[in-house]
Amino acid sequence: MTKEKLIEITEKDLVHTYQRFPLILDRGEGVYLYDSEGKRYLDFAAGIGVMGLGYGNEKLNQAIKKQVDKLTHTSNLFYNTPAAEAAEKVLKSSRMDRIFFTNSGAEAIEGALKAARRVYYNRTNSAGGEIIAMENSFHGRTMGALSVTGKEAYRAPFEPLIGGVRFAVYNDLESVKALVNGKTCAILLETVQGEGGIIPAEPAFLEGLRKLCDEKGILLILDEIQCGMGRTGEMFAWQGIGVRPDLMTVAKALGCGVPVGAFLMTEEVAKESLTVGDHGTTYGGNPLVTAAVSAVFHIYEEEHILEHVRKMGELLWEALERIKGKYNFITAHRGRGLMQGLEFTESPAYAIQKSHEEGLILISAGHNVIRFLPPLILQEEHIKEMEEKLSRALAAFSG
Ligand SMILES: *Cc1c(COP(=O)(O)O)cnc(C)c1O
Repeated sequence: MTKEKLIEITEKDLVHTYQRFPLILDRGEGVYLYDSEGKRYLDFAAGIGVMGLGYGNEKLNQAIKKQVDKLTHTSNLFYNTPAAEAAEKVLKSSRMDRIFFTNSGAEAIEGALKAARRVYYNRTNSAGGEIIAMENSFHGRTMGALSVTGKEAYRAPFEPLIGGVRFAVYNDLESVKALVNGKTCAILLETVQGEGGIIPAEPAFLEGLRKLCDEKGILLILDEIQCGMGRTGEMFAWQGIGVRPDLMTVAKALGCGVPVGAFLMTEEVAKESLTVGDHGTTYGGNPLVTAAVSAVFHIYEEEHILEHVRKMGELLWEALERIKGKYNFITAHRGRGLMQGLEFTESPAYAIQKSHEEGLILISAGHNVIRFLPPLILQEEHIKEMEEKLSRALAAFSG
């Protein structure tokens, strides 16, 4: 099939919710992707932060293949070994006490919201627990996750969403305090805002929220779906600040390519929260995906991924500082580890298109940020290659 034909069919047959780049990606190897015409791209998007271990990791693929032949699905009406093993690994590294596996990030958010509402219901014997979320946030596209996503344009066509949600200003503790009332049951935020433009929470903000939550008996929910799984150089971004949440969500790189997410909670929350009959999922945490999760944790440890991310993160920081210094249309540079962004004075769409032509996959965040989310396994030479390619793309951008 020709490239034109395939694009035509996709546009005709799939619900048109995406403005896709005109690339047909065919295979991957390490930090490189190849399109249907054999052109090679250095990947600095990792499938939106999913492919932490890059493409074709031998150990991960072997673990998945082995499980495919053994048992892919059982339902949660029975016990299975991979889910128990994966749970142990995720809980150990997150220092949480209980986990519920989901199929996506949005579902992890749904579960965390339900868990928080359940706690409120238990404590007050009444429904109606309210949630404070952040402006400029992103938590997913299902009705509940959308209800707490701080982007009016995403929400408006789908109202009425779940009630009792208020939006505060990210990194502005006073704006959160102003919204707290007797019904507030949870405060939800991304530890590093991803889709909103790569904006890390300031340590003082997170510490202030923790204190506020402790004083008022409110649950702190951290969304680590994009910034978790080693992306910032810590397994979970909050660990770099030392503010432990009551509930947290993870997905994207949790399975490094297989669809799996999770919400996690402390034992204190678990005691007052979801119980038999309160929540469920047919696929969630099936042996196929949890075998992948276990393999991912095993590989992270064996290959010292966190240490590597810290090193590479510094080199990426230096490279992007050099680039920012050359162009006055780049106004800010933010991020942690291998989750960084450059802010432009206008839409960077043209620069992104030019990068693709140069053989560098980049994607945007917000309306004026290019984000850098490479596979965590990249090496120094790949950062150099990115810098060269991006410099050429930006030279074209600046005219
Ligand atoms: C991607 C993302 C989600 C939604 O995950 P899906 O798997 O697309 O449902 C939620 N929160 C954050 C921070 C994300 O980056």
